[in-house]
Amino acid sequence: MKEIVIISGKGGTGKTSIAASFAAIAKGKAVLADCDVDAADLHLILKPEIRRRTEFRSGHKAIIRKNRCTGCGKCAQVCRFDALHDGTTWDAYPEVRYSIDPVACEGCGVCVRVCPADAIDFPEETCGEWYISDTRFGAMVHAKLGIAAENSGKLVTLVRSEAKRIAQEEGADYLLIDGSPGIGCPVIASLTAADFALIVTEPTVSGDHDLRRIAGLAKQLGVPAMVCVNKWDINPAATREIKALAQGHGISFAGLVRYDRAVTEAQRAEKAVVEYCAEGVAMDIQGVWTAVLDAINT
Ligand code: SF4
Ligand code: SF4
Repeated sequence: MKEIVIISGKGGTGKTSIAASFAAIAKGKAVLADCDVDAADLHLILKPEIRRRTEFRSGHKAIIRKNRCTGCGKCAQVCRFDALHDGTTWDAYPEVRYSIDPVACEGCGVCVRVCPADAIDFPEETCGEWYISDTRFGAMVHAKLGIAAENSGKLVTLVRSEAKRIAQEEGADYLLIDGSPGIGCPVIASLTAADFALIVTEPTVSGDHDLRRIAGLAKQLGVPAMVCVNKWDINPAATREIKALAQGHGISFAGLVRYDRAVTEAQRAEKAVVEYCAEGVAMDIQGVWTAVLDAINT
């Protein structure tokens, strides 16, 4: 079983459209993982039917138990994140003056340890949910991170490892991972130890810059990668530059995907592009898939 990650240096390059089309082409042979947990959208095309839903818990938040707090202020003295403030008077407990700003609290737990009155609870936080689902192309693991929730790297690792477990159980040929954009913690979690990465970029100045960063990351992590340029024909000169840049990084070219209104029409119809049409952009994506498989098999 080969783990193939589809990534991009930034969001909005068409990475998910290509991932959905790969899922359609590899129908029955692949398990899918949407590791773009900060902005998951593969489900909009694949319409998964949720089989299992699980809370994602990660990190802790401090909460003062008002009936135990004596107002000594020791917690505020040690909090390095300025999350504890005095000046709050609780109606029922006029002697208590301290409160915790839940947004500022980083869950380090120091205040819990210093509180002489054992007045600070430290429960685990629910940061989102993750799902095991069925789609028309195969099983899919995906997630929803809560608003302003952190630890997306940990959630990506969870989604990916569950998808891998299912792929191994089912004897799938491929684990197709729609990776997170950028070069941060979630994309490192998507990419580390994968068998292959397809970098999707676009012919713009920022596309060139983003390719440098993501190609550097793949190289650093030792993951073989190929590049494809999406909407290459909106700027053929920039496409040539990206091609040269990829060669400079020792990264092979997987192909060019043209700009085509069929991509938007397919999204509106909640279909993968290769399901929606057989010509034009669909043929380009099919060509990229073939190039990726050729590279993996050699
Ligand atoms: S250290 Fe404990 S008792 Fe003292 S102010 Fe903080 S919560 Fe209250
Ligand atoms: S857990 Fe850490 S960050 Fe949160 S209030 Fe306590 S000391 Fe501050």
